[in-house]
Amino acid sequence: MLANDQFCHCPRCGAHATPGANPFRCTACPFTYYFNPTVSAGAFLSDRSGRWLVVRREKDPGKGLLGIPGGFVDIGESAENALRREVREEVGLEIADVRFVGTFPNSYLYKGVTYPVCDLLFLGKALAPESAQSLDGVAGIEWREPLSLQEDEFAFESMKAALRVLRGQ
Ligand SMILES: [Zn+2]
Repeated sequence: MLANDQFCHCPRCGAHATPGANPFRCTACPFTYYFNPTVSAGAFLSDRSGRWLVVRREKDPGKGLLGIPGGFVDIGESAENALRREVREEVGLEIADVRFVGTFPNSYLYKGVTYPVCDLLFLGKALAPESAQSLDGVAGIEWREPLSLQEDEFAFESMKAALRVLRGQ
C-alpha cells in the first residue's frame, strides 16, 4: 500500500475519491496533490583508519539489520544540515569532509504504508570517532572494514546500491 492508496476522500473538501492515482485530483474541488518521494540524507562515516560506522537498527523497518547514520530532511532544512543533525541524534558525533556520493531510490515501510524515498548519500569523516554512542533508534554501533560489509546485512536497497557504487562494482 502506497500513500496514494490511502486517499479515499479529498483532504480539502471531503468528497469521495478513488484511491491510487498520482497525482490526486479531486473531482469536486480544485485540490490536486502530487505524491513525491521523501528526501533522506545519510553518510558512510570513516574513522582515522578508514573503517566505516554502521548502526544496528533498533526499530522497524529493518529492525536488527544495518544502516548508516542519517534520516529524513525536515521542511526548510538543507540535506547537509539534516545529515549533521541526524548524525548527532543517532550517534553523537560531529562530522567533517562531507562529500556527496549520489542519490539512491528507496522504500520505507511505516505502519503498513510504503513511502517512496530519495536517499542522498555522502561520505564523511567522524570527528572524535571514539566518542560514538548508540542513541536515537540505534541498538548498537560497529566500526567495520568497508570490504567486510555484505549487502544483505543492510536494511535498505539504497544502502546496498550505494555499497556497490562505493566499491566501484
Ligand atoms: Zn476536494
